[in-house]
Amino acid sequence: HGHELYCAGHMLEAAVAYHAVTGDGRLLKVMEKNVELIRSVFGTEEGKLNSYPGHEEIELALMKAYRATGDRKYYELADYFVENRGSRPGFLEEERFLELSGKEKWLGADYHQAHAKIRDQKAAEGHAVRAMYFYTGAADVALEKGDPTLRQALEALWTNVTGRRMYLTGGVGSQGDGERFTLDYDLPNDTCYTETCAAIGLAMWALRMLKLNPDSSYADVMERALYNNVLSGISEDGEHYFYVNPLMLKPDVARYRRDHESVEPERVKWFGCACCPPNVIRTLCGLGGYVYTQREDAVYQHLYLGNSASLRTSKGEASLCCVSEMPWEGRAEITYQGPAGVSLFLRIPAYAENFCIRRNGEKAEFSVEKGYAHLTPAEGDCFQVSFDMPAQYVQANPRVTEDCGRAAVCRGPLVYCAEEADNGTLLNDFIADLSQQPRAEREDSFGGIVALTAEGSRSDYGEWPEDTLYRPAGSARKQASLRLIPYFLWNNRGVGEMLVWMNAR
Ligand SMILES: [Zn+2]
Repeated sequence: HGHELYCAGHMLEAAVAYHAVTGDGRLLKVMEKNVELIRSVFGTEEGKLNSYPGHEEIELALMKAYRATGDRKYYELADYFVENRGSRPGFLEEERFLELSGKEKWLGADYHQAHAKIRDQKAAEGHAVRAMYFYTGAADVALEKGDPTLRQALEALWTNVTGRRMYLTGGVGSQGDGERFTLDYDLPNDTCYTETCAAIGLAMWALRMLKLNPDSSYADVMERALYNNVLSGISEDGEHYFYVNPLMLKPDVARYRRDHESVEPERVKWFGCACCPPNVIRTLCGLGGYVYTQREDAVYQHLYLGNSASLRTSKGEASLCCVSEMPWEGRAEITYQGPAGVSLFLRIPAYAENFCIRRNGEKAEFSVEKGYAHLTPAEGDCFQVSFDMPAQYVQANPRVTEDCGRAAVCRGPLVYCAEEADNGTLLNDFIADLSQQPRAEREDSFGGIVALTAEGSRSDYGEWPEDTLYRPAGSARKQASLRLIPYFLWNNRGVGEMLVWMNAR
């Protein structure tokens, strides 16, 4: 009902990772026994519990174990858990489990994504981390199963999440109660949940969708989540963490109000429910796993991270080395060593302007397939990728009430924010001037970043006594500017106001 199978799943993932890195299979052996126990308890056979996990996670872990060992029992259990979810009568709606959840509105069957079978689910519902892990595991199963109806169900859910229920930062989960999805276009900036784990889950799901269908729109979302909501989960010193990653903060309100009780005004050392800190760390340690996917002899590079990679193709061993200036500048150099006959697909990010590739210094010709430049490298080829990524204002669909009349600034994959440390308080009094493009500047702060300046205005009312709340409207404004830093770096200079979506006109 709760986190039993979730914990088993994480332990199984750890066992697979430990085996992959060290070659030591002892923990995997322990977890194989654990999976045997689970198989003896759950199933459709007489005397077994015909059910599914309360908190999904083990599905994707079982698929990792299947790929690591080739043993189909792992795949079969994952497939059973994915396909059985939402079957009726609903296991989680039995009286004994309803008592555990207190019959709370926010903790019903949809909280567990058990309100319908996956092919009948059209919108992401319930607990955001559960949902992301469920879709990730389901996509792993779909890839193995080759069942187009499962893939179509996931595509419909993807469209719902990324088209209606996702924050600009790649965060998901609009409400603290139930840590969950709410309604289409309901994306409050200060009371959101946007758990670090949920953004990690979105990136994991995107990676599986890329394996099902290498389309760069999945990589755009994966990069958005990784560079913004995921990185925001950890402090610059690497020792403090956010669980909730809001897009707007007034510290005294966050500390006081009931509807802000999950929002911490600053990163903390640890959490009683300790999922996010180790999750962000294992994600950063495993970041290499998000850079490429491979389909036979076609290699897709999704992220322009500095890296080196070796790969196996049907023509022989090959390697790729990428030296990159991302995310600060749109420049990367990718060198290929290996046999001819391999296809290299380089992502053209949605934000990239004047995208250009040079091959050993000469302008390269390429076809574009689903947002990737298709190249056929020869031994020793060096591809110089370059593109512009000017800072730009973005607006939200007007159905998002909280963002009406507002704009945020993005540059490349990064979302920017204003902080009290640079701009004082009353950030909401600033009105950005959309006719002036934000200015970008290289700076030494935070180990070297690109900071932005937004031009606009602030009120110029003269004296406004604190005990006077209202007075007739006046139009006095004075020219002002805001300094903006990448969102993932916020709250590294003490507690203060923060704002992503600025008033704008
Ligand atoms: Zn978490």
